[in-house]
Order: sequence, then structure tokens, then C-alpha cells
Amino acid sequence: MSHGSSSLFIGGQWVTSHSAEVNTVINATTEEAMGRTPIADAADVDAAVAAARRAFDGTGWSDLQPGERADAMERFADEMAKRSTLIAETVTAENGMPISLSVGANGFSGAGLLRYYAGLIREFPLEEIRAGDLPGNILVRREPLGVVAALVPWNYPQGLAMMKIAPALAAGCTVVLKPALETALDANIMAEAAAAAGLPAGVFNVVPGGVEAGQALVAHPGVDKVSFTGSTATGRIIGEVTGRLLRPVTLELGGKSAAVILDDADIPAAVAGLADVSFPNNGQTCTANTRVLAPAHRYEEVLDAVTDLARSMTVGDPLDPATAIGPVVSARQRERIEGYIATGRGEGARLTTGGGRPAHLDRGWFLEPTVFGDVRNDMVIAREEIFGPVIAVIPFRDENEAVALANDSDYGLAGSVWTGDTERGLALARRIRTGTIGINGYRVDNAAPFGGYKASGLGRENGPEGLMAFFQVKSVLLPTAT
Ligand code: NAD
Repeated sequence: MSHGSSSLFIGGQWVTSHSAEVNTVINATTEEAMGRTPIADAADVDAAVAAARRAFDGTGWSDLQPGERADAMERFADEMAKRSTLIAETVTAENGMPISLSVGANGFSGAGLLRYYAGLIREFPLEEIRAGDLPGNILVRREPLGVVAALVPWNYPQGLAMMKIAPALAAGCTVVLKPALETALDANIMAEAAAAAGLPAGVFNVVPGGVEAGQALVAHPGVDKVSFTGSTATGRIIGEVTGRLLRPVTLELGGKSAAVILDDADIPAAVAGLADVSFPNNGQTCTANTRVLAPAHRYEEVLDAVTDLARSMTVGDPLDPATAIGPVVSARQRERIEGYIATGRGEGARLTTGGGRPAHLDRGWFLEPTVFGDVRNDMVIAREEIFGPVIAVIPFRDENEAVALANDSDYGLAGSVWTGDTERGLALARRIRTGTIGINGYRVDNAAPFGGYKASGLGRENGPEGLMAFFQVKSVLLPTAT
């Protein structure tokens, strides 16, 4: 890398951190140090916000024609794509994501989002003339909100960051990204790509940090919009702060989504599909469908199939393309998941497979894919986000009960319906109170608005809706006399 471990990307340059604190990023598979970054403090955040402020107020990023911003974003995308292998492998080492997933979810997702929003802003109507209800026309303008604070977790660090950065840049905003400390190294690769693409100084800044930097950024007087992805607990704190400040905020939070398998589904095919829908990224996925709802009269058949699926998944080195389940991100996270497994046993759920650490792996924070049967929806393991490879299989009597169970959750982020009849699946999907839901599958699409009902968040990312989150709307009342 072109910069030292004490550097932060601020104002288009690698500058020495004000903080003396060092963040050592640990490889989740080898448990060895893989690199270092500073832990940004409030003074570093100040410098980054000042750079973003100057870039917004003074240097014309927001005044460029949308097509010129789109050109710059496409150059940024090209530089990201050139680094896709490095990005994918770095994230896999940092957080244990199987490389087969990381290539798309980290390696190419950033470039894809930049291209998607570059295309959108070229065509997007930023001004429209509207006939007034009173005499006279109105010019309705969409103006960039200003300096954006983007705070992201470690589980899909590249895609989640770019779901904020790409629409913000397209809208004409400037950005300060605060990556999580666990995945600070891949954020620096993003910064290198931005520099190589010649993005104007200060338009994009990176300050890896923990709670101190996060709090300083969210509350900073120079910030106009906060876009946060992370846990519901932290989201509530950020919502309180931004509420007091009357600062626009988007919150993408936790989930406990349901996969509803209807009685007309091809069960082997449906359960095979759950490999990617229920266990993605070793379960460290906000959209993971970790509650599998099965028709009571086919319950044992579904439970057996999910159990067999979990047993068949290859657990091991996440850099191996054949690996389905890598380690979880940290020792602390593994202990937390093990605590939930103990809770599930204690509340009377039936462990059908997994529940422990794989015997053949003596290093790395691995856990066996784990399935619980005989789960009731009021058990802790059915209500709380475990964020590991742990699935609860819950029976339902009829479609109405399936809908009631799916909706009986504090969360509402994702979900899926599995059926031989798409119309039937669609009818059920309409009744489930969740931000995204798939029929016979699940995917996050750049064009599909993404976000949560209930405790899963506020607002939407992706699609034109994700762009709208970075605009203010101004009405100019045109003269009535012509
Ligand atoms: P977390 O909330 O602990 O941390 C997320 C980010 O917030 C990190 O960058 C962290 O440093 C920062 N942070 C922590 N406390 C802060 C504070 N008081 N003020 C400002 N910033 C603060 O989340 P995590 O455990 O790292 O990530 C996992 C969570 O993220 C899960 O709950 C998961 O469901 C959620 N998630 C949601 C989505 C989504 O789009 N809805 C996507 C991925 C992950």
C-alpha cells in the first residue's frame, strides 16, 4: 500500500492520524495479525468532516453536471474493479466470508453500485415544473443534502458502504466513511481506488474507528445526513442523537427473517436454496432467513432436509472456493453465538446437528452449522438476531398461521416464500410485513429498494429510493404574471 499504518484518507491524501491508538486487524481463520490502521479519534473526524465540508461548499462537486459526476463515478468503478480480487480476499481474511460469496459481495459490488447510480443520475429529473394548485407554476428542485456520515459494520463492508457512497456521490453530496475496525483494511483499498480515479479532494474520506469516532461523526455540526448500517441497539442510539439534532438519518439494522415453505413446495429444491438464503456469510448476514417455517404435516421432512443441508456444508478455509462456511469474525462473536446455542438447548429446542466447534479445525473462530427443531416462535432463539450459522425450524398449521408467525417478530428486514405456485407465493409475500421478500429465493438487487419495517430500520437504500435519501427538495414559486 502507498501509505503507512498510521494514515487516514482525508482530503484526497494519506495524512497522519492525530490519534496514537492502533487498530490491529486479525485474520479470522489464522487468528494472526494481518495489518494495522489508526483508530481515528474526534480530532481525526473533525479533519475529515472539514475536508468533506470544503469539497461540498467550495470546490464544486455538487455544482458539476450530473453527467460529469457520473463520469468520475465510473472511473472510480473501474479502479474498484481492477482491485476486485484484492478486495474480495482481504475481506475474506478479515471476517471469514467464503470467497465464493466475497468475489461478488465485496469484489464487484462496489463497482456495480457506482455504475448503477452513475447511470441513474445521468437520467434523473433534478428539476421539474409543476402546475400550482394556486395560479402560477412551481419549480421543484432536488438539491444534494450536503456532507454525509456513512457508518458501516464488518459483515459486508464493501457493499454496505457503497450502498451509501454511490447514491450520495451521484446526488452531489460528499462523504466521510467510518468503517468498522474489524474490516478497516478493505476500506483503505476503496480509498486507494478513489485516489487513483482522481475523485476531487475531500469528496470521499475514510476514518476507521470505534464508538468514539462514530459518536463524534454522527453528532458533528458539519454533517448534514447520517446513513448507518449496524445493530438495532446502536441504531436506536444514533436515532436519538439525530432526532435531537433534527438531522436526516437512514438506519439499516438487524433482522430475524422467515423462510416460509408452503406445502406445495418442492422441499428438496427449497431446502437446497436455503444454503444461500439462511446461511450466507456463515450466518453473519442481516437478511439471513434464520427462521424456517414448515407446514406441520411435512415438518419432519423439512427438518430432516435442513439438518442434512447443514451437515453437508463444507466448513473450513474461507479462501478455498469449495468452502461453504468459514469462521465467524471474532472470538467474542463466536462466544455470543455459543451463548445462544446454550439458550436454545435450555429452552427445550431440539438440536438436530451442530452446536459446537468443528473438531478438525484447531485455529480460527469456526462453528458448526447448527439446526434446532421443535422451536416455538416465543423462544429467545426465534426472537433475537444470533448472527451466526444457527437456524430455527418452526411448524405452522395453515397459511394464516404462517403469516402470523412470520410477522410475529420485532424485525422486518427480509424473507422468502417457497412454493410451486408463484401467484400463491406472491399473495403471501404481500401479507408479510418486511422490507424485502423473495419467492423461491432471495437476493439483494441494486435496483430493488432495500430496508426494514419495525426494528429493522428507517428509510430505504438501493434503487431510486436510495438516491432520494441524499436530496433536499426545494420549491421555487415562479411569478404568476407572465
Ligand atoms: P454495531 O452496531 O456494533 O456497529 C456498526 C458500526 O457502528 C460500526 O462501524 C461501529 O464502530 C459503529 N458504532 C458502534 N457504536 C456506535 C455509536 N454509539 N455511535 C456511532 N457509531 C457506533 O454493529 P455490528 O455488530 O458491527 O454489525 C452487525 C449488525 O449489523 C447486525 O445487527 C446486523 O443485522 C446489522 N446489519 C444490518 C444490515 C442492513 O442493511 N439492515 C446489513 C448488515 C448488517
